[in-house]
Amino acid sequence: MRIAPLLIGLAAAAALASPVAAQTADRLYVMDCGHNAAKDQARWSPGVNVGKPIELSDTCYLIKHGAQWLLWDTGYPDAVADSPLTSPVGTATRAKKLAVQLAELNVKPVDVTFVAVSHTHGDHVGNVDMFPTSTLLIQKPEVDWAFAEGKQPPFKKDRPMKLLSGDLDVFGDGSATILSTPGHTPGHQSLLVCLAKTGCVVLTGDLAHFKDNWDNDRVPSMNTNADQTHASRAKVAKVLADKKAQLWINHDLPTFNSQKHSPQFYD
Ligand SMILES: [Zn+2]
Repeated sequence: MRIAPLLIGLAAAAALASPVAAQTADRLYVMDCGHNAAKDQARWSPGVNVGKPIELSDTCYLIKHGAQWLLWDTGYPDAVADSPLTSPVGTATRAKKLAVQLAELNVKPVDVTFVAVSHTHGDHVGNVDMFPTSTLLIQKPEVDWAFAEGKQPPFKKDRPMKLLSGDLDVFGDGSATILSTPGHTPGHQSLLVCLAKTGCVVLTGDLAHFKDNWDNDRVPSMNTNADQTHASRAKVAKVLADKKAQLWINHDLPTFNSQKHSPQFYD
């Protein structure tokens, strides 16, 4: 009986040749984390639509993976729901607090295993301190930049943090992958999430602020590095093609308005 060792050998070779199939996350909730009535679109698209106002969404995303929860971006501070924030850029409002949207799902801050922020601007880190026990997934260059001397700290630094230097497979099964996409800020990141029915989606952070900017590869005036921005967009474009993924742009209001919002979910 020489066939048995041969079969075992073939099985072993097959196991080596085919990597473990990527798993999927269970649910993705799209949450309303604010709104910005901005005065001048050209802040994000230099030279284009100068002086033209634009309405922007500010979106958070909650991902369920078995018993674990991953919160992607935390939006404007919940306090903005009580008193709108006016700045030279425009007026920020919050129709619904993040705390309320989590409570609707019976998710407590202590239940959130991971909080990951695309970057440390105020419209993304507004509620990080609501999750003092969650592990914050953030790029090291972003922390170094945000906590540089003389800058207003974006959140309490004394907290559980995992400092990244590149991509991260969050749950170790390919269902949620942080993609390092610097350029808007030194440690900006995006998130690839794969779901059973919906397929894969890339959550942009501020890789582009609205669809027209993505389509035309325009770089906002406040970005820390234009070359990195172009390279990061090319990296994500490749992921979109490889995974046949959708691109969900955080601040693109038409995208947000077309989506199901929490407590509804994508699976
Ligand atoms: Zn933003």
